[in-house]
Amino acid sequence: MINNISVPKYIHEIEPYQGGRPIKEVARELNLDESKIIKLASNENPIGISPLAKEAVLNAMDDAERYPDGNGFYLKQKIASTFKLDERQIILGNGSNDILELVARTFLTSGDEAIYSEHAFAVYPLVVKAVGANGIEVQAKNYAHDLEGFLKNINVKTKIIFIANPNNPTGTLIEKSTLREFLSHVPKHVIVVLDEAYDEYLSDNDKSEAFSWLKEFHNLIISRSFSKAYGLAGLRVGYGVGHSSIIELMNRIRQPFNVNHLAQIAAIASLDDHEFIKLSQKINNEGMTQIINGFNELGFNYIESYGNFISFKLKDESVAMMYYHELLKNGVIVRPIANYKLPHFLRVSIGLENENKIFLETLRKISEIETV
Ligand SMILES: *Cc1c(COP(=O)(O)O)cnc(C)c1O
Repeated sequence: MINNISVPKYIHEIEPYQGGRPIKEVARELNLDESKIIKLASNENPIGISPLAKEAVLNAMDDAERYPDGNGFYLKQKIASTFKLDERQIILGNGSNDILELVARTFLTSGDEAIYSEHAFAVYPLVVKAVGANGIEVQAKNYAHDLEGFLKNINVKTKIIFIANPNNPTGTLIEKSTLREFLSHVPKHVIVVLDEAYDEYLSDNDKSEAFSWLKEFHNLIISRSFSKAYGLAGLRVGYGVGHSSIIELMNRIRQPFNVNHLAQIAAIASLDDHEFIKLSQKINNEGMTQIINGFNELGFNYIESYGNFISFKLKDESVAMMYYHELLKNGVIVRPIANYKLPHFLRVSIGLENENKIFLETLRKISEIETV
């Protein structure tokens, strides 16, 4: 380290988050036409931003010289009325990533333990390790969270349990009754973070009911995002919902203006755009069917997914990377997930019909070359 600056050991051990490659970066590096590149790498909404949100943001530009409302009064009010919650149960975040980090920074200290699943969202180990706590990774069962395994790993040092439902990148879903049963077995002093970034994509039957469990489980925190179905990934806004006393503690350490003005305005408007969410869901369902049919035709195995993405299996890591690079060269960006301990898989986000078609056609071309 330069100048003998001492860095905590746990910082050295952190592997930085690797996002999906931005379109402009790929165009620059591979000398491709930016307009021909298809990004299916970050589970963004392929139909874009809600028209209502876009209009609201354009009108809000005039107030950009002012600091945003640090308490997010109107957005919290909107979330509260939409989901029948109390404003004091809500904390806003610079994306739901911010919420995950705030939970870790509020409740974990060096030596504490936090539990999460193998193949679960990469941000959990990051936020846990960043505060010097220990991450306990529970082996997955058939790519899904093994909640019994979680219970077996709870001890006096356990402070937080992270659950992604649906999980990214596997797309697995835990049934409501199973999840509720699990919560009843978790000791009251352990916080359970239920990450529901993809809830809007679930069918009415599968949709979370966790907000209604908050009365019973004061140790439950639910995180939601505007980055996926709401199409606001670039604006960075999400929120956490929990017992008011837990939310009050988290509020103490967040940045005073962690959610910018445009993001707040866009989020408020998008909560009113039910048509947009319905359309996003429909396009996702159709695209998922299209891609699964394509995988079946081409003979690719995949993990059944409840999100707006699906992970498919290649022979091994080197074949997976070959496919990744060949797709990239053809202007299709997908996501390698070796950092999720799935080196022989690639994850593809569900896109528009034509994008999915190009992805599948490119996949076919590569597979034909590969088998020659
Ligand atoms: C995408 C994603 C998030 C959302 O992140 P934001 O910070 O809200 O953009 C959270 N959890 C999971 C599991 C995700 O896949």
